[in-house]
Amino acid sequence: MAKTVVKGAMIYEGKAKKLFETDQPDCVIQYFKDDATAFNAQKRGTIVDKGVVNNKVSERLFRLLEDAGIPTHFLERLSDREMLTKRVTIIPIEVVVRNRVAGSLAKRLGLKEGGAIEPPIVEFYYKNDALGDPLITEDHVLLLNLAASPVVNQIKAWASRINQLLVPFFQERSLVLVDFKLEFGLYHGKLMLADEISPDTCRFWDKQTGESMDKDRFRKDLGRIEEAYQEVLRRVCG
Ligand code: UDP
Repeated sequence: MAKTVVKGAMIYEGKAKKLFETDQPDCVIQYFKDDATAFNAQKRGTIVDKGVVNNKVSERLFRLLEDAGIPTHFLERLSDREMLTKRVTIIPIEVVVRNRVAGSLAKRLGLKEGGAIEPPIVEFYYKNDALGDPLITEDHVLLLNLAASPVVNQIKAWASRINQLLVPFFQERSLVLVDFKLEFGLYHGKLMLADEISPDTCRFWDKQTGESMDKDRFRKDLGRIEEAYQEVLRRVCG
């Protein structure tokens, strides 16, 4: 796929990204913004250069996963904030993989933050802002017709495999991969990983200090947000 794509009209603007058409009908451009939201967009702010970090970190991780045999929508990085991707139809499920107790899991089940989850678990959330992205079961996925049964099985298998690949990758960079969210899409009927994998969609704890190096610094007003994102970029891409 050539770098000579021509950027067209904006198709969609989400909370953290914009999507643009190109002169190639099967390709779109993902533009990564600095806008940050949390708690179903009740909290809003800006993390300076977050878009650059998320674009570059996602590129590195998509390449790693492609090399390991996981199909992704990634084609190439076009600029600091732009990535060329295949034009997929996103399956409206947020797939969360957890290695340690944190966030909504700690709250929902009354578990102490930080505990190891062995074996890691995979959860599904229904991507629906009006409903507040509820946790759903596999039966609900089928009931809502979000994906067919073989597709759900493939998603679960890939989510676990992606976790097996990412845990050691981050471990080598002194980051504990606590949990992360994935989105999948269909491209001419073919399932592939889509969206992004970045400090916005993962929890990373520094191996030495245990400090959050991700969007939790924004959610919890921990300060030094930009520094944390830049440090993740340095460890992942440096
Ligand atoms: N996550 C995400 N987008 C969402 C919800 C969660 O990227 O809309 C990520 C989040 O950054 C974390 C993981 O999914 O790495 C698990 O999030 P959790 O269910 O604990 O929800 P939260 O505590 O963020 O509300």
